[in-house]
Amino acid sequence: MLETTIAGSLPKPVWLATPGVLWAPWQLPPERLAEGQRDAVLLALRDQERAGIDVVTDGEQARRHFVHAFVEGLGGIDPTRRVTIGIRGDRYKAEVPSVVGPLRRTRPVHTDEVRWARANTERRLKFTLPGPMTMADTVADTHYRDRARLAMDCAAALNAEARELAALGVDVIQLDEPAFNVDAYFDEVKSWGIEALDRAIEGLACTTAVHICYGYGIRANIEWKRMLGSEWRQYERTFPLLAASRIDQVSVECAGSRVPFELLRLLEGKDALLGVIDVATERVETPEEVAATIRRAMEFVPPTRLCPCTNCGMAPLPREVARGKLAALGRGAALVRAELGTGATR
Ligand code: ZN
Repeated sequence: MLETTIAGSLPKPVWLATPGVLWAPWQLPPERLAEGQRDAVLLALRDQERAGIDVVTDGEQARRHFVHAFVEGLGGIDPTRRVTIGIRGDRYKAEVPSVVGPLRRTRPVHTDEVRWARANTERRLKFTLPGPMTMADTVADTHYRDRARLAMDCAAALNAEARELAALGVDVIQLDEPAFNVDAYFDEVKSWGIEALDRAIEGLACTTAVHICYGYGIRANIEWKRMLGSEWRQYERTFPLLAASRIDQVSVECAGSRVPFELLRLLEGKDALLGVIDVATERVETPEEVAATIRRAMEFVPPTRLCPCTNCGMAPLPREVARGKLAALGRGAALVRAELGTGATR
């Protein structure tokens, strides 16, 4: 119980990508990039293992952007036709590729990355993919003109990919759906977002998770959070829908957030990926602080259903800060496990 994991991304080594920059360009020439990414994955795995993280990821070392890495591997996308659009309810602008025809998965996208990560860790492995609604929100659509239809084709492509990744030994497939947390999208979440999510995980033999968060610690998100008032209740509308979905695990941003902990009750029957590490600050939590967040959550969720996690990806943080936060996550969970008399999880 209290098995630890991370949202997904970790900072990249300075020789691979410019530090401290989101979606940073690669520092290696194309002919040396794949080897550099593989080396970086080994470092990301070792850092998590040393910190005692139970379910590890590849740190997303082989992708610049959490949506475009997958999207640009699909048919129907023109990655060279890039357009700047407002995304997440126009919270910020992003340069995105264009949808120019029916979205189809014509080849595997992430299988080589998964084979490498799987071959290089004994721990359980999680792999992250963008959620269908977030995919549809992060492209310039010139073909469908209908977000629901676009998202359902995204879901079918995700499902084909996820089945292949699970067969390669991935233990957890996580879909990142920050679009679920955008107030302006709630009606769409209800009318087709959950259906698209369920379609993406249909028939998967592995554990499935959805990551919903308040974003990286970038300025647009910090300003958005300031406008959300004294209690952040966005989850209150999505959690009952997710509780009725097929997803196994749902992430919750609880470290340094204003999310009322009682909202965790709405996830009954699901595992909560409990955000106990704040990615919007470079201050490293103490293990005691992490333990305190876990204990608060245990008032509403049994420890067998809690997986201590980071609030969101740690890609934009300095590496030493991320390592410190990983260690705090591992030690904080161990403190509470010791109190419960269960000791190590393995
Ligand atoms: Zn996130």
